Amino acid sequence: MAVSTCIKCAGHSFEIALFTPIGESRKLSIVQCSSCGTPIGTMDPAPGLQLQALKIQVAAIDERLSRIAQALQD
Ligand SMILES: [Zn+2]
Repeated sequence: MAVSTCIKCAGHSFEIALFTPIGESRKLSIVQCSSCGTPIGTMDPAPGLQLQALKIQVAAIDERLSRIAQALQD
């Protein structure tokens, strides 16, 4: 597999850093060169939390569907 290379300093090691864009309150995660700090890409800050929120919503919809199905049978 090819080794990722920083476009600025030709370094080969990268790290995840948090930063807050101007005008935003939410932090974003970026992958940056660990030598010179050149950003390589961004990451979703908290996919786990968003997935958890979706799971709760789906469970609520499922419960309502069950109640509707039950009412239709009665
Ligand atoms: Zn670099």
